[in-house]
Amino acid sequence: MIEAIGNTPLIRLREASEATGCDIYGKAEFMNPGGSVKDRAALAIIEDAFKRGLLKEGGTVVEGTAGNTGIGLTLVAQAMGCKAVIVVPETQSKEKLDFLRMIGADLRLVPAKPYRDPGNYVHVSRRLAEETGGFWANQFDNTANREGHRHSTAPEIWSQLDGKIDAFTCSCGTGGTLAGIALGLRDQATQSGVKAPEIVLADPEGSGLYGWVTQNDLSVSGGSITEGIGQSRVTANLDGSAPDHAERIPDAEALKHVFNLTAHEGLSVGGSSGINIASAVRTARRLGPGHRIVTILCDGGARYQSKLFNTEFLKGKGLPTPPWL
Ligand code: PMP
Repeated sequence: MIEAIGNTPLIRLREASEATGCDIYGKAEFMNPGGSVKDRAALAIIEDAFKRGLLKEGGTVVEGTAGNTGIGLTLVAQAMGCKAVIVVPETQSKEKLDFLRMIGADLRLVPAKPYRDPGNYVHVSRRLAEETGGFWANQFDNTANREGHRHSTAPEIWSQLDGKIDAFTCSCGTGGTLAGIALGLRDQATQSGVKAPEIVLADPEGSGLYGWVTQNDLSVSGGSITEGIGQSRVTANLDGSAPDHAERIPDAEALKHVFNLTAHEGLSVGGSSGINIASAVRTARRLGPGHRIVTILCDGGARYQSKLFNTEFLKGKGLPTPPWL
């Protein structure tokens, strides 16, 4: 199972490429065994904890997550003879919660609270780990997360495109994916003596990171139905990643890409992938034709059937619906 994580295909996104005259590629992270990009972070964090003696066979991993990290951690923990206790805000999609129960996570649902509130899922998970003697994965501030991407995802992308990459863009939850790939691509560029790709942070509405990159101001407005992304602080994983540029993407623009990709290219992805593709398209337009842009297809659409593919839910929010439903 551990060996099935990573080495995912890099798929050229036809419509986005043709519309912009660029080559836009999506790294198919939904093909990981737990169905998301977070399998890589889960593996990197657990392997690091084993190496440091913080976790042993028979031990317990405790973490607060929007769902995907919980799925990855539970599967990797079980493959390595451990157990997982997963704290999730109750607003996350039913499909992710059902999946966590199905695979045997010890699931603890908590009300959704901002980070500054002690009832926030991250703080609940830290206290639970302290009280029970479990290992707290701490995906937001444990930089084993970004190091995993730096040493797996980034070199994979580099070799899949022979180092010819003009820009990389993706959204952030912990920032592990964006920062790890940014650092890894910059490492590769330095070793090869070429210019590093431009790094573009893709942000949903309601997140502070767009303001952080563009005006060094983390204040927040609006909101998004996407899950697992958006952040109101500079996590240890994000710190030092120095994105070159940022795009703020409204949900309607992201959903249009999710629906088109499904209908015209046979790729079923979730909302954060839509934010990423929208940002890749905007980056392509800004750079002009002939550039190569890479982004991440973080997880699959089946994880959000009850939201992104529920016409009643979408209409209630004034959002576009999949034309075939
Ligand atoms: N997309 C989805 C669907 C996710 O669950 C997450 C992780 N919470 C991300 C994107 C963001 O990844 P990262 O934590 O590496 O920033």
